[in-house]
Amino acid sequence: MSFDIKKVRDDFPILQQRVYGKPLIYFDNGATTQKPLPVIEIVNTLHRQSNSSIHRGIHYLGEQVTEAYENARKTIQKFIHAAQPHEIIFSAGTTASINGLAFSLGERFVREGDEIIITEMEHHSNIVPWQMLCGRKNARLKVVPFDDNGVLQLEKLETMMNRKTRLIAVMHASNTLATINPVKDIVSLAHRHDIPVLVDGAQSVPHIPVDVQDMDCDFFVFSGHKVYGPTGTGVLYGKEKWLDMIPPFQGGGEMVDSVTFEKTTYNQLPYKFEAGTTNYIGAIGMAKAIEYLLSTGLRSIAVHEQNLLHYAVNKLDELGYITIYGRAPLKTSLVTFSISHIHPYDAGMVLDKMGIAIRTGTHCAQPVMQHYGIEGNIRASFAMYNTLDEIDSMIEGIKKVKLMF
Ligand code: PMP
Repeated sequence: MSFDIKKVRDDFPILQQRVYGKPLIYFDNGATTQKPLPVIEIVNTLHRQSNSSIHRGIHYLGEQVTEAYENARKTIQKFIHAAQPHEIIFSAGTTASINGLAFSLGERFVREGDEIIITEMEHHSNIVPWQMLCGRKNARLKVVPFDDNGVLQLEKLETMMNRKTRLIAVMHASNTLATINPVKDIVSLAHRHDIPVLVDGAQSVPHIPVDVQDMDCDFFVFSGHKVYGPTGTGVLYGKEKWLDMIPPFQGGGEMVDSVTFEKTTYNQLPYKFEAGTTNYIGAIGMAKAIEYLLSTGLRSIAVHEQNLLHYAVNKLDELGYITIYGRAPLKTSLVTFSISHIHPYDAGMVLDKMGIAIRTGTHCAQPVMQHYGIEGNIRASFAMYNTLDEIDSMIEGIKKVKLMF
């Protein structure tokens, strides 16, 4: 499939504007991506024509929107290659999915003295919920380190697993180092010890084809807004056997079968985990975003984004005063760096005035910054609609920043 960058850019109205009189260059896609017209339009149309609470009304609108919601579930199922639609739980995002799972898994399986393994490169949302669980249960958090290139030291993981390990939680792709982790190998290692694995796919799903059955992970999470969908949407995938075994993390409407003051029984999957009125319009919008991604072509997007990555890294290296964090052999399309003797925040402010949106700070991964002994750095994260010319503009911007300070 050929990749038509002009057509892609035309599909994203936000990119057509100027900021401070300059064309907008949006390099903060690791934080959130922009929305293509089909997503904007379906959310608008649903609000105009079909809004009605799902799974409740027997009326026309209720049935229409319920059908669209369940079709959205099937779209997500196919997208990540889950075995069953009811293994897809709609959530408010990666953070919500991990917090929910940490509660449910913790209730059922984690006791005093047990252990959870995470990695040193995790986003705070795959650290703090596990730390909170360990605090509640008197369990222990163990951390797999990465080397200075940003590669996980998997030989250390082998020595950390034991009979007390209840879960390994690992990111598929890093939001600071860009490393794509060998999650399939990690899962197969873990399964040899009967340990389930959660994969945080927030940064992989927009860039890499995902097949949860091939990966064989037990849980997989991602956010809709990072994959061109609406905010407040996301997914918790779990293998049926695990979702059946763990209790719900929220009680309320829809997630029940019968309720008396003495006893409540829970609804079947996936509804057991979808308490209350969900963000059904958002979920349908997220599925539309995924259809857009698929119709644009996952592989051609990946080729384009890898081009951007390599071009940016080479150009940054050529400057001679840039430190890049993360040199793993397999990387997703983002780069974090610092400019010698310049505070990231100052650089970010100046680039912003040139219409270039990059991210500065710790990127919700303070332990990664601690690893390198820095307070923060600069991140440029690329999406399907970015261009080599935009990278040239960023490089020119960095040269100006260097001259100014
Ligand atoms: N994990 C990773 C790897 C991320 O990059 C992010 C967002 N930066 C999250 C989790 C959290 O996602 P959200 O804020 O959408 O819940």
